[in-house]
Amino acid sequence: MSGLLFVLSGPSGVGKSTLRKEVMKRCPALKYSISYTSRAPRRDEKEGVDYYFVDMETFEEMKEKGEFIEWAKVHGNYYGTPRRQVEEWLKEGFDVILEIDVQGAKQVKKNCPDGIFIFIAPPSLKTLEQRLRERNSDPEDEILLRMTNAHLEMQSIRDYNYLVVNDVLEEAVDKLRSIIIAERCRIR
Ligand code: 5GP
Repeated sequence: MSGLLFVLSGPSGVGKSTLRKEVMKRCPALKYSISYTSRAPRRDEKEGVDYYFVDMETFEEMKEKGEFIEWAKVHGNYYGTPRRQVEEWLKEGFDVILEIDVQGAKQVKKNCPDGIFIFIAPPSLKTLEQRLRERNSDPEDEILLRMTNAHLEMQSIRDYNYLVVNDVLEEAVDKLRSIIIAERCRIR
């Protein structure tokens, strides 16, 4: 029996990481795949916890060697999901969760059509912009770029199996947890 692959996408600042961390506390045997990125770490981010931070050159080499299940350029930086760890976990029967952008999710869907694709949306784009500003970790031009991309990303909702609106965190956590539980019970 191989594990299930859960793919979470949604605009930057929507609260995917917070949601995922809360759900992981309550769902045992769920493994999170830490991505590689060429983006510089933010103040509070740690190597090997939030991301593996590498330079563009290293990322490109890994990409050429086929070390990513998927990769994408998002807001001007590279992001990718390491292949070996995820494939091992799935083979061992662990359920795996990916937090990736819509371009990456499209690639995963092509190669792993049995994945469960979940879109996390903000209650409104206005709320999203407020959250990005409150996070206070990105300069103004980055925020505007992330908002432009958010408009585009929201147009991909129909490619996903589930939609969770992250308005009240506890409710969104419950919904995400329920999806995971239901998918684990599904007869395939
Ligand atoms: P941030 O810079 O805010 O951490 O992430 C920017 C965007 O890149 C977010 O939408 C995030 O989900 C996405 N992202 C993070 N890791 C990966 C990955 O491995 N692959 C892809 N395609 N997107 C990723």
